[in-house]
Amino acid sequence: MLEIELARALEPEMMGEQPCGICGADFQPEAVLAQLVTDSYLPPVCEPCLSHLARRALATWLAAPKTGTTKPSGIRSTAAG
Ligand SMILES: [Zn+2]
Repeated sequence: MLEIELARALEPEMMGEQPCGICGADFQPEAVLAQLVTDSYLPPVCEPCLSHLARRALATWLAAPKTGTTKPSGIRSTAAG
């Protein structure tokens, strides 16, 4: 499973146009960056890739049998900075 971490852009350079970590298309990140959690650094993920992954994660969660109030996994946020 892909794990994505949300982090605030701490430097102006982090918001410069760059290739998406998944599809490779150049995009302009905003103040919150969505990054794949991997052993090595990958660039942030673009909005279309993120929304596609979020839809799939939600659909998977909605289709799964519910036990308690577990939230969809695979996306988490951190209070970086
Ligand atoms: Zn992308």
